Amino acid sequence: MGAWKIDIGKFLLLLFFAAIAGGLTGHFWQAISLFLVIVQIRQTRQISRFEKWIGAGGRQEYPRVSGIWEEIYYHVYQLKKAEKRRKKKQRRMLKQFRESIEALPDAAVVLGANDQIEWTNKTAREVLGLQQSDKGQRIPYLIRFPEFIRYLKFGDYSEPVILPSPVNSRIILAIRIVAYGAGLRLLLAQDVTQLKKMETMRKDFVANVSHELRTPLTVLKGYLETVQDLDEGNSPLLTASFKEMQGQTERMQHLVDDLLLLTRLETKQKKAVCVDVPSMLSQICKEGDALENADRRIELTLETGTHIYGEEQELRSAFTNLLGNALKYSPDDSPVKVRWFQSSTAFVLEVEDFGEGISTLDIPRVTERFYRVEGKRHKKVHGTGLGLAIVKHVMMRHDGRLEIASELGKGSCFSCHFPLQRACGKA
Ligand code: ADP
Repeated sequence: MGAWKIDIGKFLLLLFFAAIAGGLTGHFWQAISLFLVIVQIRQTRQISRFEKWIGAGGRQEYPRVSGIWEEIYYHVYQLKKAEKRRKKKQRRMLKQFRESIEALPDAAVVLGANDQIEWTNKTAREVLGLQQSDKGQRIPYLIRFPEFIRYLKFGDYSEPVILPSPVNSRIILAIRIVAYGAGLRLLLAQDVTQLKKMETMRKDFVANVSHELRTPLTVLKGYLETVQDLDEGNSPLLTASFKEMQGQTERMQHLVDDLLLLTRLETKQKKAVCVDVPSMLSQICKEGDALENADRRIELTLETGTHIYGEEQELRSAFTNLLGNALKYSPDDSPVKVRWFQSSTAFVLEVEDFGEGISTLDIPRVTERFYRVEGKRHKKVHGTGLGLAIVKHVMMRHDGRLEIASELGKGSCFSCHFPLQRACGKA
């Protein structure tokens, strides 16, 4: 039987006895009233004891009671015990989590809604020079590099910002921000000093080798031309060999030039001027027609006369590469469309061909250095595999992007998108 039924039973029995006692003494209603007052006082006392117990946290053993009150005490006590266990588990997990983040080789800083520091790990204190006492301070007041402040405010958090450590300028850090929870952000800083050193070594090595190869190649090419001039054609084998040697020397020269250009793109400071893109395109298209012996293949449409702010040589090189590829990788009689126009978000140079196209698998890879798609035609078409890598770099240096749309057997459309803010004049 439920405790509440027993309590009701007891109450009714006692009420019955009170009624009999009242009836026998001739004070029926007084006896009933007295009984009800006593019951009410008892209940109020129980409630007050319960309130005192729960007010003290409900953690001590509960008083000896019976009936429905025993059940109430028992359930509340069990709930309190479960909550205590849960809190203990949460505290243990939080402690383990903090210990693991504290031991991370990367710096980690938890930032609040206003960029104020909420928590730092050991590495953050070491490489970012933060103190335990900096809690609550705004991080831009402590790490004062302008690039960092810009990144924090407007950054594209998908890419890290590379900065020297504020405590030791020889340590290079890749700082990244991860947003989580309600307005919270986690700042992670990784030591990339070794990586940057290797990258610099690679760049220096490529630059030096390319530079050193340039002079011997020019000498070789010069002598080859002289020998070819002297050749009277008595030996067809010799004549063919000279031609092949000249072709290969030219190829190597292109390779060296492309490598040097890429190195310059990676290391050179930007020096932008207002570039007259429409006349540059007209010139390149004219040269393309002459070079590839492709008279009337190129269709140039200038929908806008806008000039853009940029590096003239770099833009020329990027556009020439795109046009050269379109002519190279499509049949000798198919058209190549070049278009300069303004979309709602950018100024766009589009180079479209109706040639062999690129497979979906190869599209993401064609901008990698030295990547050339395997194909029958490619064996005949000479190239360095560096052209699109150059275009991609040039676009990055102009805050723009290169988009590639292509379908095997149908053709390709390469488009260079420049931000609208780069406009600097009009023809
Ligand atoms: P390459 O010197 O080989 O032309 P690029 O970097 O310019 O080097 O191009 C890389 C590869 O991308 C090329 O080898 C070719 O396979 C492919 N490619 C580039 N442009 C086109 C195009 N317009 N049509 C088809 N394939 C292309």
